[in-house]
Amino acid sequence: MPQTTKETPMMQQYLKIKKDYPDAFLFYRIGDFYEMFYDDAVKGAQLLELTLTARNKNAADPIPMCGVPHHAAQSYIDVLVDKGYKVAVCEQLEDPKDARGMVKRGIIKLVTPGTSLEDKPNQSHENNYLAAIVVKKQTYGFAYTDLSTGEVKVTKLQSWEQVQNELLNLRSKEVVVASDLPTERQQQLQKLGLLVSTEDPQQSFAEVQFVTQSVQDDTQKQAITYLISYLVETQKRSLAHLQIAQVYQNSKYLQMDHNVQSNLELFRSLRTGEKTGTLAWLLDATKTAMGSRLLKQWLQRPLLDVEQLKQRQSIVQIFLDNFFQRGNLQDNLTKVYDLERLAGRVSFGNVNGRDLIQLVTSLEQVPQIKATLLDLHEPLIDDLLSQMPECQDVVDLIEAAIVDDPPISITEGNLIRDGYNQQLDDYRDAMKNGKSWLVKLQADEQAATGIKNLKIGFNRVFGYYIEVTNANKDQVPLDRYQRKQTLTNAERYITPELKEKEHLILESEEKSTLLEHHLFTEVRQQVKTQIERIQKLAQILAQLDVLQGFAVVSEAQHYVRPQFTEQHEVQIVNGRHPVVEKVLGKQHYIPNDVQMRDQTDILLITGPNMSGKSTYMRQMALIVIMAQIGCFVPADEATLPIFDQIFTRIGAADDLIAGNSTFMVEMMEANDALQHATQNSLIIFDEIGRGTATYDGMALAQAIIEYLDKVVHAKTFFSTHYHELTALEADLTTVQNVHVDATEENGQLVFLHKVLAGPADKSYGIHVAKLASLPTKLLKRAQTILDKLEQKNTTTLPAQSVSEPQPTPTSEVDQLALFDAPSLDINQDLLEELKKANLLKMTPLE
Ligand code: ADP
Repeated sequence: MPQTTKETPMMQQYLKIKKDYPDAFLFYRIGDFYEMFYDDAVKGAQLLELTLTARNKNAADPIPMCGVPHHAAQSYIDVLVDKGYKVAVCEQLEDPKDARGMVKRGIIKLVTPGTSLEDKPNQSHENNYLAAIVVKKQTYGFAYTDLSTGEVKVTKLQSWEQVQNELLNLRSKEVVVASDLPTERQQQLQKLGLLVSTEDPQQSFAEVQFVTQSVQDDTQKQAITYLISYLVETQKRSLAHLQIAQVYQNSKYLQMDHNVQSNLELFRSLRTGEKTGTLAWLLDATKTAMGSRLLKQWLQRPLLDVEQLKQRQSIVQIFLDNFFQRGNLQDNLTKVYDLERLAGRVSFGNVNGRDLIQLVTSLEQVPQIKATLLDLHEPLIDDLLSQMPECQDVVDLIEAAIVDDPPISITEGNLIRDGYNQQLDDYRDAMKNGKSWLVKLQADEQAATGIKNLKIGFNRVFGYYIEVTNANKDQVPLDRYQRKQTLTNAERYITPELKEKEHLILESEEKSTLLEHHLFTEVRQQVKTQIERIQKLAQILAQLDVLQGFAVVSEAQHYVRPQFTEQHEVQIVNGRHPVVEKVLGKQHYIPNDVQMRDQTDILLITGPNMSGKSTYMRQMALIVIMAQIGCFVPADEATLPIFDQIFTRIGAADDLIAGNSTFMVEMMEANDALQHATQNSLIIFDEIGRGTATYDGMALAQAIIEYLDKVVHAKTFFSTHYHELTALEADLTTVQNVHVDATEENGQLVFLHKVLAGPADKSYGIHVAKLASLPTKLLKRAQTILDKLEQKNTTTLPAQSVSEPQPTPTSEVDQLALFDAPSLDINQDLLEELKKANLLKMTPLE
């Protein structure tokens, strides 16, 4: 650490400021540069690829230093923040010319990953969430906000796993916690790739009062308090656009944990990590950034409420039926800018003239949108429209004040319209008419004094003056004229009137730009009072946008409106995987039915690799999600129950939370489903058990199926390559076999991708070997071995329900009991002895 004693005053100031921001890069303004010093400089030079120099090169202990030009600072700040760091921006708070001694400096903002507001074009369709967690005994208050839009949401979570999961789902980059959150917990959060910022709110802010007015629960209120006090501290500017918090409860939505969302590729492709090829990508036919963000929020939390879903569906249907109005709506929406983020910028006070014109252009679409949609005479639409404010007053205000094509800068004039402000008009008159006024003054003075060659001149020292040659000196009215300068052949005079005008002329430009800035700020201030209305409008427009987008996609892809049933059954006719179909083209996709009656819980899916088992299962999950966000679905007919949760165990999921072995992850995901699924859940198990030895895996797979059959009763899609498991259908009434077909054509293996009733052909493997032209003798031998194995039938046990002594389980209690270890028919004494035995010290024989 540097020794402060011998530092220069400036470095002392630097160190004093740096002390308050130990975990941020300090950008310290010196003239036209932001400089970094010490460790910041060493690390910053590396991260930003800057040249590392030193402040006092020749001293014994030179201070490492690097800098960026102030006009390019933002891009450097972005790079650091993108990499997960904080940047404290320290400005000169006074003009060095006016400073006595050291120039005053202070931090004007702290830019952090969760509060970064940089509008990068590719990020406008994504939210950037800052979260806050408060721990109260065994519950967690969890709040988050997108600072750019001002939305705030809050909930209570029951476990640390849920907290981590929520953070992953929101893709937060930064989380605010109390400084006494145990280090271990903080490290766990860091492992998820989050920047952990600690905060201990010292005071209550007005914003907290406003935002928490909808919140009853103290822990939740506290989470919001942490969130807001962190914002106040980092932003150091108005947060007037923060909205009243929406309290949510995950159990009111279709729940999918982070692994499920990533396995189903809702937002990111597993293979590429990109958005292309995801459900969000497919369904996004929105015209506005707000709509695009809302769509993602809907996908994040599909609904359980049938009435709400039917309303969304009905609006999609209306847009499907009214092509013309939909087209008009789209045209108008295309002209709507990001109102949510504009409102945010108005609040921060960093809008410019162009932003306000964007606001006007956006708001001007509203009357047309209303007219178009009222024309439909649909009560559901009318209802939405009635909640949509028009904000015509905002339009009028901005139109009256701001010119049509304002410059980017708000400090250089040419922003405010003529006729908006008398004073400004006067200044502008003075600027424009200054010359002609002087010409007129010269003529008037010539007439008044009778001096024909009296003229008005200008120099830098004296400004404007009236010049009279020596010959006419006597005629000068000295009561009005004041002598200013004597030349050899002339005298120069001024008059109060001339000085007054001069003042006006010379300063009119400077003054008018100042006044323009002031007037602009006033307008901005007035718009700021209307932020809530603009936000409300933005929400309704976003909904309309998402729903029209659903209509567009549903029409283009031939989707159908799903029916919801209260029965425990699934009927899908010619269902398709929406993304695979989109990529392959409709004609190349083989549609498949799903028929699960009330008593069928488990579809056991067999078939060769690459036949389409996984696609079929994913297709089911995606259809469910689409249905529960109110979209139409890729099928000819679909009747579905409302699902409460989706669980998956599919292929290679990377384990974000703990770094466990593949098989461990497989078992953990299976366990999650088995423990938490209800009979209203959907479970997708793709080849469970394949991560371990064959018998081991098969035994587990069978036991899992039995457990699903007895205890869980969720609708389950279970694909397996353990052909032996298909025998379970005979014993378990909830299990039904289907298989994906493949055939041979001209000696080539052809996948039909068609899902058919019954188990797959058991000697399939030998079949493929034959296609690969293995020796006939070998193939025969393989067939003989297979037959022997099958006769022995040592591979699976009959399902447990039939092996039980009592004929059929009669009550749920009986069924549950099957899985209680003590109920197994084992001699209790033997069991005790086994428990006592120390296996490590025993020989196999013992
Ligand atoms: P499995 O899980 O049986 O190994 P997948 O579901 O991964 O097989 O499917 C293998 C490939 O077959 C996929 O990449 C997909 O392109 C194609 N496919 C799957 N189902 C269909 C279908 N119904 N129609 C057309 N192609 C399909």
